[in-house]
Amino acid sequence: MIKKLLDRIFKPKHAKSSHNQVAYASTPQNQPRRPTLRSKLDTKKPSHENADYINHGALSIAHKTHKIDRNLLSNAALKTTEGLHKAGFEAYIVGGAVRDLLLNRTPKDFDVATDATPEEVNRIFRRSRLIGKRFRLVHVLFGDETIEVSTFRGSHLEAEGDSKVTDSGRIIRDNVFGSIADDAVRRDFTANALYYNPASQEVLDFHHGYADIKAGVLRMIGKPETRYAEDPVRMLRAVRLSAKLGLKIEPNTQAPIAKMADLLQDVPPSRLFDEMLKLFLSGHAMESVTALREQHLHHGLLPMLDVVLEQPMGERFVMLALQNTDDRILSGKSANPSFLFATLLWHEMLTAWNGYKTEGHHAIPALHMAMTEVIATQAEKLAIHNRYTATMKEIWGLQPRFEQRAGKRPFGLLTHPRYRAGYDFLLLRCESGELPTELGEWWTAFADADGEARAAMLQADTAPKKRRKRNRKKVVALDDNSADAA
Ligand code: ATP
Ligand code: MG
Repeated sequence: MIKKLLDRIFKPKHAKSSHNQVAYASTPQNQPRRPTLRSKLDTKKPSHENADYINHGALSIAHKTHKIDRNLLSNAALKTTEGLHKAGFEAYIVGGAVRDLLLNRTPKDFDVATDATPEEVNRIFRRSRLIGKRFRLVHVLFGDETIEVSTFRGSHLEAEGDSKVTDSGRIIRDNVFGSIADDAVRRDFTANALYYNPASQEVLDFHHGYADIKAGVLRMIGKPETRYAEDPVRMLRAVRLSAKLGLKIEPNTQAPIAKMADLLQDVPPSRLFDEMLKLFLSGHAMESVTALREQHLHHGLLPMLDVVLEQPMGERFVMLALQNTDDRILSGKSANPSFLFATLLWHEMLTAWNGYKTEGHHAIPALHMAMTEVIATQAEKLAIHNRYTATMKEIWGLQPRFEQRAGKRPFGLLTHPRYRAGYDFLLLRCESGELPTELGEWWTAFADADGEARAAMLQADTAPKKRRKRNRKKVVALDDNSADAA
């Protein structure tokens, strides 16, 4: 009888996918006190208070329970799942979008998971392209929206496909396809392993993610130590998602972070950069950085960020910059990553700049030497894209020019394309106590003033006049002319 029941529940409905039949019972090793699906089935009790029935080995949560507002879904995501369904495939909205919808937040992007292979997805959507090496994915384009479509991933342990794991357990390539249940078990947190089918409006929940979200808990699927070893970036994701979503990191998920933090050293700098960018632009950068410090995860992320944060002036400057970015993002404004990284590395810059000046270099060449040094050191850990470093250097390079308030120079600075960023940066320097407040106020007033008032604000020009180079040849020529004229 029990066997019959189990067969009925776990037998895949769709012949196309071979479902992992132990989705629940085998995975949440860190959740010993939570009933597994199998033990619940054994007792023949209703499987879950939120579940209406079992589908694909997961709890199926109906619309009447989860109440996801379909109007919050992006059209592009709907068209993608519809296109895949029409072609006979399974397709779900998955990951952060479902989690955010259940938390009554508007998702910032939508990901779709399907049993179609990347090539099949690519053939179904005219405007789509295959991307990725570590994970092969398809980007489906609708207007300016891109939907990321991934094929259900299988376990890298049963590697028949294209998969690679390092000696430390880190997964560096992962292109083994599997069932939806396999796919769910490979996701990081229970809250991120929910599959929403917009057609039936049901949410498939393989790891009690729904209950965890409702309880405000961020819990790793599987054994946290193993999952962090597979991908150390998950430690940063735990901190970032908990700060952003106000979810509490579950104790077993939290515990190994302190001793495993060093594994972040092995993560490629470009991947760290992408993750840090998400963290800093989440609208909760202040809380995230504070949490990173508490968990000693900030070491080596931004070299010397730990040292900077330990100096009162440096800490004040970085915290002001993060607060400023959070305020902008939460009020719907854009935040420029170059500006942010320029602030995070500024005190590092000041130290290097002063060093070169002490060695006897002139201020401006010393500034340029410092910029090159700081960016190069930085690149070893966290590769900031070139397009950002160019702007960072411009913002830094403008700073000495704000201290020149005589002659024509302030007028020239006002018309510089990066004036606004340079000025905002200056204000932060004043606010943090590095420069007198009066300097920032002067620039605010100068930019607002009209022509005459501006002229009246200028300070006496005490800078040594530049000596014009005499052009020997021309002088001779002039002399010749004048001789002719004479
Ligand atoms: P955000 O709201 O910042 O986009 P997210 O959880 O959606 O958060 P994404 O990077 O967009 O983050 O990832 C989409 C989904 O892919 C996640 O929800 C999770 O299911 C899965 N995922 C992402 N990164 C990992 C990882 N390092 N390990 C396991 N699963 C991951
Ligand atoms: Mg996302």
